[in-house]
Order: sequence, then C-alpha cells, then structure tokens
Amino acid sequence: MNKVLTGVVALALFAAGCGGSSDSEELAQVRAELDALKEQVATTTAAPTTTAAPTTTTATPTPTPAPTTVVPTTTLAPTSTTTQVPTATVPVPTAEYQSLCVTSVLPAIPVFEAPAGSTARRCATSAGNVVFDFTAYPGVLDSLYEGVVAAIFHSAELFPIPLDAFDGTAQVMVAVWHRSKTDYVKTVDHRCSYTAPDLEQCSRDLLGPMPFQGIGMAKVSNSPVVFEVVFPTEDDYIDTDVSHWLPSSHEWFHVYQLAYTVESPRTAVGPDAVPLHGPIWLHEGLADYVGALISDQAGQADFESTYYEWFDWTNVEYERSTGIAASEILPNCSTPASQVAAEESRNAWQCPAGRVAVMRLLDLAGDGQIERMKDYYEGLVELGWETSFVRSFGRTHDAFYLEFGDFLALPVEQQKSIIAQPVLETS
Ligand SMILES: [Zn+2]
Repeated sequence: MNKVLTGVVALALFAAGCGGSSDSEELAQVRAELDALKEQVATTTAAPTTTAAPTTTTATPTPTPAPTTVVPTTTLAPTSTTTQVPTATVPVPTAEYQSLCVTSVLPAIPVFEAPAGSTARRCATSAGNVVFDFTAYPGVLDSLYEGVVAAIFHSAELFPIPLDAFDGTAQVMVAVWHRSKTDYVKTVDHRCSYTAPDLEQCSRDLLGPMPFQGIGMAKVSNSPVVFEVVFPTEDDYIDTDVSHWLPSSHEWFHVYQLAYTVESPRTAVGPDAVPLHGPIWLHEGLADYVGALISDQAGQADFESTYYEWFDWTNVEYERSTGIAASEILPNCSTPASQVAAEESRNAWQCPAGRVAVMRLLDLAGDGQIERMKDYYEGLVELGWETSFVRSFGRTHDAFYLEFGDFLALPVEQQKSIIAQPVLETS
C-alpha cells in the first residue's frame, strides 16, 4: 500500500507543479480523491453510521493497486476562456433525483462519518451500480455544494456506466471543501478513513496538497470499487472562467472510463507505461469532449463555442512552441512520465491538445461518435487499448498521430469546420 501511496503522491506533486495555476488545472491525487435535492435529503453531519467502521473497508487490500490509475490530469489547462460563464440556474429534473437520493440508504455500502458540521448526502444512480456519497465540509457555501451535487449526479444519469462494466456497486466519494474556511486536518481524517488503511501516512500525504489541490479524481480501491472526486471551492468556484458543469462532468467521465478496467488484472504499471485505459491525451481529451457535451445539454454552456476556444488556444500554443513536430504532440502525452516531461518543459498545452485531437479523431472515424467512444471502453479489457482503438476509430493510433499532425498544419478556421456536436441520447 505504501508503494501506491508513494506513487500517487509523487504524481500529485508533479501535477501540482505544472501547467500554470492550480485553479485551472486538474491535479491527480491518489486517494484518492441537485439543486433538486436541496435541504430535504441533506443530513447535517452524521449520516447513519451503522455499517462498517471506515477502516475495515478501506483496509481491504486492493488486489492489484498500481499507480497507473492515478494519472496526472491537466484538462482544464490555462486558457483564455472568457465566454463561458457559470450558469446561475440549472434545469435539473427535481422529483426524479430527490427520490433517488431519498431511497438510497443502501446499508451494504459503508458510511464514512463526516466531521461535525458537514453536510452529507447519499444518492444512487438509476442504473443502480453507482452510489455517491457527497460531503460538504464546514465552510463550503451551500449553493456551491448544491451545484456540484447537481452537476456530478446529473452527469452520471446522462452518461451511465453499463451494468456489465464491473460487478456490484461502485462507491464514489465526493469531497467538497473551502480552501480557506475548511479545517484541513478534520477533512483529511475523513478522506483517509475511506482512502487508506495507514492513517498516519495518509494524513501526511493528503494534508500538504490541500491548499492548492485542484479538482480531480482517483481510484481508491479495486475491490470494493471506490473512487474519490475532490472539488475544492472558495467563495465561488475556483475557476470562474468555465461553468462548474465542465469539471464536474469531466470528473464523472473519468469514473466511467476507469470503471471498465477496475477489475482487470494489471499489465500496464508505472509512469512509463501507457495506462490500461489508453494514452493520457485520449483519456483527458474524451473527458473534455464529454464534459463539454454534458455541460451544453444540462448545464447551459455552449459546446461549439467551448470547442472554438479550445481550437484557438491549442493553435496559439502550438505556434508558440519550438522544436515540436506536430505528429509528436500526442505521443508526448501518452504516459504519466511523458505528461510530466511535457509539463516540465513548459509544453503543458500538449496534453490539453487531446480534446482537439479527439474532435479530429471522431470526425475522421465518421458517424456514431458516442457509440464509438463507448465501444472503445467496452473493448479495453478484451482487446487492449491499441486494438480497441483501431476497432472503434478505424485507424491505428500511430496513423492518427500523423493525421493529427497534418490537421494542425491547416489554418485554424479550416480546422474549426469539423466541430460538430453529437447527439447525446438519454435513455
Ligand atoms: Zn481529467
């Protein structure tokens, strides 16, 4: 377990040190890390604590813990985004979510009691294979917490994980804190109760990054399946240039992505290996793509203008960069190590370029973007990411790296002509 912790912390620190402001970047962390529901379901502090003491559950050794799941993420890299503004009101189907949260006590899933004064809420998705435990630690503004709950839960309803992705129920801990008003020690004690059996070590590892920790997620455990999403706030969301729906849906999609390999025997381990779920540019690029899509559909952000800005930003950064062949951009963000190297060499834009690359990839692949994306994840365990990539997108990743290089050589306005918003079916 120590090995995992060390790996995680190292990555977290790397990620923390790169990519510009911690407000706009997404940091990896190990442990891990509805308007509608309102006060009705909100239980102040102690949710029922009948079940398993925290440590018994987290102490369950994960069969094959490895640092590969903990991928430094740089999604919301610094951009000059200004057109997106936080949405004031969100059209969330109230009654539906209220009932989902009210009825989802689920005694088989352990409750990790939050510090006094916290607001805790448990909600199960309609599909029934994911349970969220949302916690707002003291100091968090109610409106911000409600916004996070609505955005993450709604994202999970819009883009559910198929029941065959893993066995049983995944528990997703969502930790929302205020950077200057929340008690870090108490918060970390709670987070460590579900993330690590070694509380002392865990506290040390988590306390340091708390003041600058960005929004992020990580897998905590393979068995039981536990994820953590961390969502620091201030008196407003930490990055007001974009709607909070974007990071919320982005992080949800990371849960979706990792769910497919959570029970898989690990073969890709370490910072120099491409993670089981595929290269980081694709992992982040698809999370941004889906994030922009959900933010448009549910969060009143505009998919196309979001993408216009991303195209502009990537092109500006590419032109500013020196010595990088366009066909090398994506390979430079395939493994955690290559991501760190790119960031340390002040080329942090290469990983966020993945969202532009994903638009091009789906454009080249043809119709059925959403299905192709889903197929890719469904094929991971059986085929491996390279073959699943070919099956879903119709080309090898190496061939695509060259195609993307050619694409970036086009005038930016011509590049933008491929931006198209797919239909996100809700069923
Ligand atoms: Zn990410």
